[in-house]
Amino acid sequence: MWKCPKCGREFKNTNQDHFCGEPPKTIDAYISEQPDSIQPLLHQVRSTIHTALPDEKALPLPLIAEIAKWCYETGNYH
Ligand SMILES: [Zn+2]
Repeated sequence: MWKCPKCGREFKNTNQDHFCGEPPKTIDAYISEQPDSIQPLLHQVRSTIHTALPDEKALPLPLIAEIAKWCYETGNYH
């Protein structure tokens, strides 16, 4: 188990991606917490998904989080 030093929550994986404190309730809230450099990309991804999935509530935040992570890892964000 790994315990986040900031919020004290425990996770199976060390340095588990999570939100310290209250998790954002909407995609917009989530995106607004991301670095400015990847926000346009996330908005683009979101609108693409929104076209396929008109029900916004059906869009899982973990999916967006995965995409955000992918943005970091592929070097779109430095
Ligand atoms: Zn934390």
